Amino acid sequence: MSGFVADTIAFSNVDGPGNRFVVFLQGCNFDCVACHNPQTIPLATGDHFRTAVADLLPRLRRAAPFLSGITVSGGEATLQPDFLIELFTAVKADPELARLTCFIDSNGAADAATWARLAPVTDGTMIDLKCIDDEIHRAMTGQPNEPVLASIRELHALGLLYEVRLLVLKGVNDDPAVVRRTAEWLAGVDPAMRVKVIGFRVHGARPHDPPLVEPCTDELDDYAAVLRDVAPFDICVV
Ligand code: SF4
Repeated sequence: MSGFVADTIAFSNVDGPGNRFVVFLQGCNFDCVACHNPQTIPLATGDHFRTAVADLLPRLRRAAPFLSGITVSGGEATLQPDFLIELFTAVKADPELARLTCFIDSNGAADAATWARLAPVTDGTMIDLKCIDDEIHRAMTGQPNEPVLASIRELHALGLLYEVRLLVLKGVNDDPAVVRRTAEWLAGVDPAMRVKVIGFRVHGARPHDPPLVEPCTDELDDYAAVLRDVAPFDICVV
């Protein structure tokens, strides 16, 4: 079994708990204006993206003594569920890798049937929620937010929701009333959930007209304060 893999990094401390080997898959079903990896959006067609599970395992074994786990990101990881299942199954069956946790970093567009297939081999997920307001979400991603909200509810029910990630795009999705609605909705799922507030960074993103603007530290703190005012979330701001 091979997957369409855009890149891998042996060590990351921003893609889930601890130090993680990260596999970035090629192809995404969103087209986010603020995407930092726009080269991973086009669906792969060429064989040069093909990477076999058997080729990833030796790389994982080399890094394993320094790792807490493996995270598959994107593009959109859940567009290749068969590859994810085979990779995670192989990790859990390998005596040198079995202690590693297997996480998915996702835009949340997958349906319940896909999550049900992935659940037996998955230890946790990070889900991006670009905006609670559907109109703003569509403007930011080209897609509706209902599948994302459904995924957050579903993964929480499965005990697989590690973190919800909120990208802050200044002047687009940071209106305090929208942030409060976001917090109230998340609190309805789990008022103690882990939430990562991520400030948009221009570096890596495509040019946009008008230009997209980075929030400053104070603005991110204000955003987090609105969340905290609603519920005792476990909040991290980056
Ligand atoms: S979901 Fe992620 S990879 Fe896909 S377009 Fe949006 S930011 Fe980029």
